[in-house]
Amino acid sequence: SRRHLVAGNWKMNGNSQLATQMVAALNGQSIDGVDILVCPPSLYLGDFKQADFSLGGQNLSEFASGAHTGEVSASMLLEAGCKYVLVGHSERRTDNHESNDLVAKKVEAALKNGLIPVLCVGEPESIREDGTYFDFISAQLDAVIELVGIAQFAHMVVAYEPVWAIGTGKTASPEQAQEVHKFIRDHIAKGDTDISQKLQILYGGSVKSANAKELFSQPDVDGGLIGGASLDPQEFLNICQAAK
Ligand code: 13P
Repeated sequence: SRRHLVAGNWKMNGNSQLATQMVAALNGQSIDGVDILVCPPSLYLGDFKQADFSLGGQNLSEFASGAHTGEVSASMLLEAGCKYVLVGHSERRTDNHESNDLVAKKVEAALKNGLIPVLCVGEPESIREDGTYFDFISAQLDAVIELVGIAQFAHMVVAYEPVWAIGTGKTASPEQAQEVHKFIRDHIAKGDTDISQKLQILYGGSVKSANAKELFSQPDVDGGLIGGASLDPQEFLNICQAAK
């Protein structure tokens, strides 16, 4: 059976002091069957040198290097100690106008450098309401499948984050999450069943310790991508423990 992964996405929050506190709180916490990942702002990755858990970037450039002011490359994230990188978070799709095609290019850049992309997908509220969310999510996945090929999903993680559940306190019900997670797994299975069975699919959107266990116990939910609640070391640790 699949290991669980609990990832904290700090977004544009935190500071060096919180990084130090997080390392102190999480180091030495080995939880059976659960891997822990923290994705701080890239400026603070250096404050995690002593961490015994995984690190990830929140975004990367689609380019390898060059004249791209303000951008961070896959190889830089790797050198800073990252194993993972979030790609296509809904906030970047919205704030930075990242299209499905650009997200696919970023996935490719991550894979080329041996970083594990955590490909974020999920529908906005209007799409949830009009009922076309399977089509919406298929398109997000297909852009990546078409560029990098289905075999690369053996080296990736997918996160389902319904936009209407992000930072709203309105989490998807365990049944709503399971429905989409199963849909994603079945979609990947059309290309390769073995890869689909091994693929970790995380849920994100208003996860906290009080609702984590129920979400993580769904058959196709392999852990979570945690925003706000990942900024409190004890609360984040409680969520990691709920993934056991
Ligand atoms: P919240 O947990 O704050 O709802 O954020 C979810 C998220 O976007 C994680 O990437």
